[in-house]
Amino acid sequence: MTSNNNVKMEDKIITLAAIMKKSKNIMILTGAGMDTESNIPDFRSRSGWWRNIDPREVATREALKNNYSLFHDFYSYRIKKLFDVNPHKGHYVLAKFEEQGIINSIATQNVSGLHRKAGSKEVYELHGNINIVNCDDCKSDEDITNFLNRGSCEKCNSEFLRPRVILFGESLPEEVWSKTLSNLNKIDLLIVIGTSLAVYPVNELPRMFNGFKVYINNEESLNYNYFDLTIIGKAKDILIKLDEEISKSS
Ligand code: NAD
Ligand code: ZN
Repeated sequence: MTSNNNVKMEDKIITLAAIMKKSKNIMILTGAGMDTESNIPDFRSRSGWWRNIDPREVATREALKNNYSLFHDFYSYRIKKLFDVNPHKGHYVLAKFEEQGIINSIATQNVSGLHRKAGSKEVYELHGNINIVNCDDCKSDEDITNFLNRGSCEKCNSEFLRPRVILFGESLPEEVWSKTLSNLNKIDLLIVIGTSLAVYPVNELPRMFNGFKVYINNEESLNYNYFDLTIIGKAKDILIKLDEEISKSS
């Protein structure tokens, strides 16, 4: 529909605000681009990453079992980095939208926990949450400090403590995934923000939804021409402007 690139960003935001007001049930789907303005690098910005190692080679079951030192270093680094990180205004806008009944839920690929930290309640963390640690063997919950100190499981003594994130090669948490799918059946608007839609199966979600789909990202991709509306720009700026637009006309 309105994916015409000549239409100015501001006009597209006005269009989206109007569509949101008419919609009854809205789901947001976020990816790493939602968090970059809180200074958490996405996976595509490799230059900023840890020791220049591709995270996709460490965030695996193989690394957990066969190269635990590397796995532990990588996740300790990411967890410690998050200590100083806070949600940005865009996260708060989404939390406010939920409180105002404008949106219903957020499905996220992010493991940072920033949506919840900003106050969003109906959040489906499809790839888990890096701030929660458990034992890979007996599954018991563990203290995050114990993980950071490279301790072992207090119940079964296993050395394989790990954050509760979905590693490449693992399946998504069933309950969260089915909640997301059942919500996808109820919504009439899906807004995808800051994801390259490269990771299966989350990248299938927009195609599984038959209603109006919006894609907000800071770079364009021809792969996403199945969206009804595409807005190119930074997630935070766009959400702030969207909030202004919705408040103006309410
Ligand atoms: P990705 O890195 O593949 O894609 C992120 C997309 O966001 C890119 O297209 C990028 O151009 C865009 N982007 C970057 N900054 C933006 C901004 N300010 N505004 C709008 N768009 C912006 O990440 P992905 O698609 O989420 O998937 C990769 C995997 O990375 C997921 O499994 C996720 O769990 C994991 N991951 C999570 C975090 C986090 O929790 N914050 C960080 C890095 C990676
Ligand atoms: Zn254990």
